[in-house]
Amino acid sequence: MSATSQERSTIREIAEKAHNIGAVVVVDGAQAVVHEHVDVTALDADFYVFSGHKVFAPAGIGALYGKPALLDAMPPWHGGGKMVEKVSFGGTLFAQSPAKFEAGTPNVAGAIALAEAITWYKNIDRKAAEQHIAHLQKRLVEGIQSLEDLHIVGLQPAASVVAFYVDGVHHSDIATLLDQQGIAVRSGHHCAHPLMDAIGINGCVRASIALYNTEEDIDRCIEAIRKACELL
Ligand SMILES: *Cc1c(COP(=O)(O)O)cnc(C)c1O
Repeated sequence: MSATSQERSTIREIAEKAHNIGAVVVVDGAQAVVHEHVDVTALDADFYVFSGHKVFAPAGIGALYGKPALLDAMPPWHGGGKMVEKVSFGGTLFAQSPAKFEAGTPNVAGAIALAEAITWYKNIDRKAAEQHIAHLQKRLVEGIQSLEDLHIVGLQPAASVVAFYVDGVHHSDIATLLDQQGIAVRSGHHCAHPLMDAIGINGCVRASIALYNTEEDIDRCIEAIRKACELL
């Protein structure tokens, strides 16, 4: 979901409060990196993590940013090649970070692909991409709203996700029937159990829109949802 300037200032606020009591802040930016320019210094995040596959890189690679002083103070978490400076019977001197944390043969292909994906993503017209996604989201929302017994959950305008449930139908059944029609969605509680409890449902279906989606994809999705509901 697109992080707004409000959410960004919330992270800064959390970081300030945490730092006041000596705590360390780890920000999970797996969603934010796709939607905004992230400035870890402005957020004052101690650590910032994201997964490569969320920015169109392959799976199995991601990034962990850490403030240099914190990284330097941390011990390595496993041993292997390239992470030692000097080894003797008298003691071991570890390499500087980040090498200290990158023992063994690295995921070379993954790192190259992640860098390429980021370079590509930095050079696209982000405003046009966001407008395209907002346009598709509106189309999907209107399509879902035109169907009976469907309820949209937690709608955020101009976001890239639309979550919904159908009265009396299990979310997994909808997801399976959409899958059979070639539409991939997520179903379940989406790591948000308390929210599901508050709404009074045991889960919902969530369609995500990315910049490669087209109006035709959205129309196929709506039609597939309509068919699934007919069958259930
Ligand atoms: C996708 C995601 C994860 C999990 O990352 P994986 O690399 O898929 O395991 C964690 N947090 C958020 C916010 C995500 O969007």
